[in-house]
Amino acid sequence: MSNVFMKVRPSGVLKYDDCPRAYKYQYVDRIRTETTSVNLPFGTAVHDACTSWLIADSTGKTVSIADIFREGFQKALDTKIVSFPQDKLPEDLFKMGEALVTSFPAAWTDSGLKVLMDKDGMPMVERRLETEIRPGVVLSGQPDVVAVDAQDRVVVPDIKTPAQSSDEVFAAASEQLTSYQLLLEDPSVVAFTGRKKVDRVGFFEGIKRKVSRTGKGPTWEPPILVDARSDSDIDDLKWKIQAMAADVEAGVFPKRPRMAFNSPCTMCDYVGLCHRGDKSGLIFSTSDTDNGMDELMAAADAL
Ligand code: SF4
Repeated sequence: MSNVFMKVRPSGVLKYDDCPRAYKYQYVDRIRTETTSVNLPFGTAVHDACTSWLIADSTGKTVSIADIFREGFQKALDTKIVSFPQDKLPEDLFKMGEALVTSFPAAWTDSGLKVLMDKDGMPMVERRLETEIRPGVVLSGQPDVVAVDAQDRVVVPDIKTPAQSSDEVFAAASEQLTSYQLLLEDPSVVAFTGRKKVDRVGFFEGIKRKVSRTGKGPTWEPPILVDARSDSDIDDLKWKIQAMAADVEAGVFPKRPRMAFNSPCTMCDYVGLCHRGDKSGLIFSTSDTDNGMDELMAAADAL
C-alpha cells in the first residue's frame, strides 16, 4: 500500500454525506462532546457481548454473555458522562440489555447462520479489514461477523440494536453494508478468507423495547438479508470515497443544513460551534491527550 493520506471508516463516509462541516469537526479536528448518549455505550455493550459469544462458540469455548454485557455497560456508566432519555432509567437498560444478550445465542442458532472461519481456523468476527480505494486513500472497516448459510453462501449480517426494525429497502441501500462487501472482496482479504464473493448482506437486529410483564419485550428479529451489491454499486461507492478524499485534501468542508424538514442541524452535536463559535460542552483534542475520540468512533461504527 502507498503512503496513506486518508483512512476513512464507513461511519465517516456517512458523516461526510450528512454534513461535511460536521465531518471536519469530528474526524479532522477530533472534537467530541462531554456527554455521550446512553445509546452508544448500551449498543457497544450488547454488541461486545454478542460478538464475544460468537467467537467463543465458534472456537468451542464458553463465556457468560450476560456478565460481558453487565460489566461493559457498568464500566461505561462509571467512566463517562452519559445522558439518558426521560423514559429510560439505567435499571431499565440493564434489564433490556440482559434480555437481549441472553436470547442472542438461540436467535443466532435459529437463523441457520454459522460463523465463517478463515484459512487459519480463526473466526471472521470483528476483524479489521482495509482496502485501498486509490493510492493514499484507504477504506477501513470491521464487519461484526461474516457467516455462511445452509447453502454455503457468504453472508454479512450487521448486528444492531435499534428501537424499530429496518426493512429490506434500507438493507438493499445501506452504504455501511456496501462498504463491508467492498472490504471482503479485496484480494488481500480473499487471500485469508478463501471466499472471493459476498452473496448476501443485511441486518441482525435486537429491538430495544422495555422489559415488560404484559407487552412485547426486547426481541431479536429474523435477519433481514438481501442479495449482495452489483459491481456498479461497488464502483459508485469507490467513486464517492474518491470525491470525498479530494474535498478533504483540498480542505473543503461546506455546511450542509439542507431544508427545514430534513436538516441535520437540530440533531448536530456541533450546532453551537458551527453557528455561534460556542465551544461549551465540547472536548478538544490536543497532540498529547486522548479525548476518547477513537473509542467513540469505534462505538459509532458498531451501531
Ligand atoms: S450545525 Fe448543521 S451545518 Fe453545522 S456542522 Fe452541524 S449539521 Fe453541519
